[in-house]
Parts: sequence; structure tokens; C-alpha cells
Amino acid sequence: MKKRFIWGTVIGFPIYTLLVYLYLFHWTTPGVPEAFEGTAADPSTFMTESEMALSEEYSKYRNLLFFIGIPVEALIYLGILIFGWSAMFKNFSERVKFITVPLYVLLLSTVVWLISFPLDYLGYQLSGRYGISTQTFSSWMKDELISFWVGFLIMAILISVLYFLIKKAPKRWWLYAWLLLIPFFAFMMYIQPVLIDPLYNEFTELKNPELEEKILALADEAEIPADRVYEVDMSEKTNAMNAYVNGIGSNLRIVLWDTTLNRLDDNETLFIMAHEIGHYVMNHLYMNLAGVILSSFVGLYLTYRLIHIVVRRWGGAFGVQRVEDITSLPILFLLLTVLTFVSTPVELAVSRQAEKAADNYAIEMMPDKEAAIGSFQQLTINGRSEVNPPLLVKYLRYGHPTMMERIIMLEQYENE
Ligand SMILES: [Zn+2]
Repeated sequence: MKKRFIWGTVIGFPIYTLLVYLYLFHWTTPGVPEAFEGTAADPSTFMTESEMALSEEYSKYRNLLFFIGIPVEALIYLGILIFGWSAMFKNFSERVKFITVPLYVLLLSTVVWLISFPLDYLGYQLSGRYGISTQTFSSWMKDELISFWVGFLIMAILISVLYFLIKKAPKRWWLYAWLLLIPFFAFMMYIQPVLIDPLYNEFTELKNPELEEKILALADEAEIPADRVYEVDMSEKTNAMNAYVNGIGSNLRIVLWDTTLNRLDDNETLFIMAHEIGHYVMNHLYMNLAGVILSSFVGLYLTYRLIHIVVRRWGGAFGVQRVEDITSLPILFLLLTVLTFVSTPVELAVSRQAEKAADNYAIEMMPDKEAAIGSFQQLTINGRSEVNPPLLVKYLRYGHPTMMERIIMLEQYENE
């Protein structure tokens, strides 16, 4: 099995990479369809030649890295199982009583992190080389380590509870785990903006008093209290622009990156703000939570069914005797990785619908077409984005409609 895995990876992975490369660099052509040439969605109408070339190149490399990354996580878990590392991690962890499971999780996360580090680092390098990321290596590394430890802490708790449930209720654990996950997801969404996000960046109220007045007036129009609007200092890290809504309950908030506030003119910023207000008032965060709860029900049930099959068939070869044994964790992660990948296109399609609704809401609220289109063009320029990505990229990566779709929607919008 080891040999088959090694040969499969050594031969299969380069072939896969080559196919992806050909797809991105040769089989698909960037640019806009003839029907939209010369419109506001055509990059040649709002970008210089060199900006267009850089965006095109950057997007291709970025997409290549994304596709290369897809099978990596699954391959790591599979490799860990086939080489018997899972049993090894367990033997080591068992030397320390009471924290066997957290220690096992730490070993597993460290190995996964180390193996996937080169790809992460390449992403950081690429972003810096194309003038998007302005982060120093140490600042980037600090963020990496924070997310590693935050992720580990959460994972250690979840996995400890999960394996306790598997032992106590071999047939119903997936259901009990799901019931516990509902308050957990809500709790995580609640603390995200106040406990997790501030670990990476500083959140303040809006700093530019004139713009603040206009933004808060807009928020007020939608009955959103002023203390729900924040500015975050992203300019220390990136040239890209963004804004988002997160949190739930009393922590629900709209966050504007300072890059957006600094670089767009007032009306353009207000359009972005109106888009976020759209998410806020249409309760997209709560729908998102409901979606996560629903998909985790299906995911856990399928994992429960599949993990027994895998352990029965390959448990011997993997050194995994029983499902309730912590050595089965890489199988669980492997299954979750595959299930997540399979459900991604559906989740992204749902997200694109929500984004489209927010764009519609925004243009109704702020019917300044020129500013709206201008803001999307600036977003494209500063993020070195592609307006019209290849289809596979759209279905696997895009939680927003493509910029071409968004700008055309705005162009075709009729003021009443
Ligand atoms: Zn949005």
C-alpha cells in the first residue's frame, strides 16, 4: 500500500498539476466576451496595459496555487494513515495521561501545518511580489502562528468531546455531536469579531469625521446603530480593499477595511457600505449559520456511515483498530475534507446568490451607477483580480459573482 501511495502521488500529482496548468494558462483565455467589449466591465476601459498584464498573470498563478492545494490536505491525511504515523502519534501521546487526545491533535496539526507550509508561503510571496500584500515576513508569520494556535485550541476541545461521544454512544455520536455543534457555531460566530479578529488587527470606530458622518447617516437610514460600524487597519498588511459583515446578536457588525475608506471616493465607499447594509438587513449572517448547521448534519451523518466502512476495510493497514480510537482521527479529517470539497460548489453558488442580492440592495439604496461601477473597478485594480475567471475557478473559488457579472448588472440597472 505504501508503494502504491508513493507511486500514485509521484505520478498522479504532477499529471494533475500539469492538467491544471494547461487549463489555466492555455486552454482558457482571459478577457471579456465580445458582447461586453468596451463596456465598463472590460478591463481595458479602466486599467492600464501593465495593470491588465499584472492582474492576468497574478490571477493565473493564484488559481494554480489554489488548485494545487486542493488535493494536498487529503493526501497528507492519507499519507499519515498509510505510513502508520497515526498509531505512532497515539503511542507518543499516551505517555502523558489526561491530555492524550489534545497531544495527539497537536502532533497531527503540527505535521499537517509543516507539510502545507511551503504552499502558504508561496501564496504570501506571490501576493507580495504583485504588490498586494505589504506584510513583512515576521508579521505574516505572526498571523500564521496565531491561527495555528487558535485552530489547535478549538480543535483540541472539539475532538476531545467528539471521541468521548463516540465511546459513549457508538451509534448516535454523530447526532449528539451535531446537537452540541449548534450552540458551538452560534458561540463562535458571536465571539469571532470581539475575541478572534482583534488577535490579528485593530478595530476602531471610523476615523475620517466627514466620511463617518455620511456612512453613519446611511446606516441610520437602514436603522443600524452607529456602534455597529467599524474600521480595521488593513493598510498595514495589504493594498487590497474589502468590507464585510460578521458576528451575530449584539456583536453583529459591519467592518470596512481602511484601504477601502482611504482609496475610494466618498460615493464609491458609500456604495460598498450599502452592499454590506444589504447583508445586514437581509439577515445573511443568520442564513449562513442555518446553512452551516444544516450541512454539518448531513456531513456528520455521512462521516459516521463512511468511517465505519473505512476502518473495517483498511483499519488493519492504517493501524486503526476501532473507530472510537483516536488513531481514526485522520480518517475522520480525510472524510470531512472530501465532503467539504464536494459541497463547496453548492455553498459558493448559494453565497453568490446572497452577494447578488446585496448588490441589488446597494444600487437601490444608492442609485449612483457611476460610483457603484467605479468602486468595483477599483476593487479589481487594487486586488489584481480577474473580471472573468475560467468556469472551474468560478465554481470552486468564487463566493461572489464575477466582477464582469457584477458590473454588467449595475450597467443594466434602470433607475426608476
Ligand atoms: Zn458581500
